[in-house]
Amino acid sequence: MKGLYVFASLLAVAFSTETFVGQQVLRIFAEDDFQVEKVKELEAFDDLQLDFWRAPTHPETPIDVRVPFPSLQGVKVFLESNSIRYNIMIQDLQSLIDEEKLHMTRQRFMPRSIESFNYGAYHTPDEINAFMDVLVSERSFLVSKIVIGRSYENRPINVLKFSTGGTKRPAIWIDTGIHSREWVTQASGVWFAKKIVDSYGKDPSLTSILDNFDIFLEIITNPDGFAYTHSKNRMWRKTRSPNSGSSCIGVDPNRNWDAGFGGAGSSGNPCTDTYRGAYPNSESEVKSIVDFVQSHGNIKAFISIHSYSQLLLYPYGYTKQPAADHEELDAVAKKAVAALASLYGTKYTYGSIINGIYQASGGTIDWTYNQGIKYSYTFELRDKGTSGFLLPAKQIIPTAEETWLGLMVIMEHTRDHPY
Ligand SMILES: [Zn+2]
Repeated sequence: MKGLYVFASLLAVAFSTETFVGQQVLRIFAEDDFQVEKVKELEAFDDLQLDFWRAPTHPETPIDVRVPFPSLQGVKVFLESNSIRYNIMIQDLQSLIDEEKLHMTRQRFMPRSIESFNYGAYHTPDEINAFMDVLVSERSFLVSKIVIGRSYENRPINVLKFSTGGTKRPAIWIDTGIHSREWVTQASGVWFAKKIVDSYGKDPSLTSILDNFDIFLEIITNPDGFAYTHSKNRMWRKTRSPNSGSSCIGVDPNRNWDAGFGGAGSSGNPCTDTYRGAYPNSESEVKSIVDFVQSHGNIKAFISIHSYSQLLLYPYGYTKQPAADHEELDAVAKKAVAALASLYGTKYTYGSIINGIYQASGGTIDWTYNQGIKYSYTFELRDKGTSGFLLPAKQIIPTAEETWLGLMVIMEHTRDHPY
């Protein structure tokens, strides 16, 4: 194992990928608002190069932060001297990344058919794109691929359209991977695609949904970022567009929407992971969806899937003012998380974004909700902070299976409550 580890690390160097040798992820427990503020002070030090996987918010929510090796001692001393409790969530980040890579190289292959595809492994963008093409060629009566735009680096922005016919049908939208490092989401998206084609004509509930609605599924919602997580930096979250006046790259595509844009819970600093961009819809990955949603005009449910933390969230994120449909959104969320938990007992909490996690402005589903898409939801998939973004591949299928049950509750409710 040690030999393999060394080999994988050498391989990483050979391909000039960013390494995380000596890095740890700390889980910090701020006990009161004062300690939360103290941790925020750390966040403000650009030189520490900290990567907050879960940002400091309320005292009761743990804070997860990836710490580069040179900053590790300093951060620990800072926490200890302020009597802030923490533990080591990930002892050796690089070894988790090496394990993930090794599993991928053993398990993956270009798909020849949708039956032979390995749904329990992480895949490269090329493999997922090939999967989509195979799916479309094998199930052309039900699924087609549309291109809604191009990424900054000119990759096609592909969306699968599941449709049993009709024109101007109401639709349900699902996207995964807008934050590129949240790999279990794209992997779940692939599984959902297979589930939809397998279930049509067999599962009466999904069949009735597809007899009345089209489903749009965007699996690789941030194509440049996703490619970058495979080629250069596994921890990349943002888009890959340059920022004028800064050497830092990329915009947080979940702060770039025209809903409370520029408010609290987003950053004006291009070097941070929550940089909102110069103006709303500056990112073509966002603008392409905006244009699609507006020209379609009949989308009834919009579900944007992230990881991690095990949450089901609804608007708003930029304001404390409850959404007009708050009670209904809350009731559906309650039912969805119960359905999700029924399979493996995975516990989710639910609520509005601002109450469920933290204030975040310029987010996807606040915009879709303000566009009149009542059933706008965001999932944060597994886990609650054991492996975080590096969820072991053996959890992909269980995660997708349980999430599907939650999605079905939202889609059935949308079907049964036309508006
Ligand atoms: Zn995310």
